[in-house]
Amino acid sequence: PVPQIVIVGRPNVGKSSLFNWLAGTKIAIVDDQPGITRDRLTHLMCHEDKFFELVDTGGMGFNDADNLTKHIEDQITVAIESANLILFVLDTRSGLLPMDQEVAKRLRLVKVPVVCLANKADAESLDSMAEEFHRLGFGAPIKVSTQQNRNRGIVLNRIIDNIPEHD
Ligand code: GDP
Ligand code: MG
Repeated sequence: PVPQIVIVGRPNVGKSSLFNWLAGTKIAIVDDQPGITRDRLTHLMCHEDKFFELVDTGGMGFNDADNLTKHIEDQITVAIESANLILFVLDTRSGLLPMDQEVAKRLRLVKVPVVCLANKADAESLDSMAEEFHRLGFGAPIKVSTQQNRNRGIVLNRIIDNIPEHD
């Protein structure tokens, strides 16, 4: 089986944008308003001769706009069950919110590597705002911007460095 790289995070941090950006094609629906129901999306990728499958769990169990907690629960359950590596996405512009803490709490129980991505770091002037994500306990966040195309290669390299050898 191909290693599964699962994108996790509260609504609106840019998970679907990140999925499209890494995949290099606009498959996932990007929306200003959280809560649109989407299916689990996957995209087979190859970087430096290594194959992996990128998974956007954005719409999992999220039919009810008020039911954010259930949404996160479902999303993370999927991640725990199927992931070989988790990309934990945060929003540098909004900073750390209680819902991010909720996601982090669940991800601390996961056995697979968790890579923290500080998205929406559109300019270096915003980088200092990403530092607070450090205290979530998943190491230094990689500052990225899907909009400004920042650090895509670094993310892809980190993914292949952390997935088991494919056989
Ligand atoms: P999701 O709910 O986590 O899947 O988030 P989406 O991918 O749908 O994006 C939510 C919003 O964040 C959209 O309005 C995106 O255009 C915006 N967004 C995504 N990436 C970036 C980024 O790098 N910079 C900025 N400024 N906005 C972004
Ligand atoms: Mg989404």
